[in-house]
Amino acid sequence: MAQHIAQPTVTSPELPAKLPIGAIVPWAVFFGILMLILLYFVGAEQGATSVVSGEYVHEWVHDARHLLGYPCH
Ligand SMILES: [Zn+2]
Repeated sequence: MAQHIAQPTVTSPELPAKLPIGAIVPWAVFFGILMLILLYFVGAEQGATSVVSGEYVHEWVHDARHLLGYPCH
């Protein structure tokens, strides 16, 4: 009397989900533009090209200017 013993099925390890590049690119562009705007306010928001008059923005980002090596004072 032969019994059939079921063999455990070997499953391949799950592969990591593929990144949908088409869904990531718009967010990457969006955050890249935001970072460029932030970089502008940190690095160039003063003098003749200032968007906000006065020294407020400069003072708020003063430590970031020094951290990134922008000439300041
Ligand atoms: Zn400074």
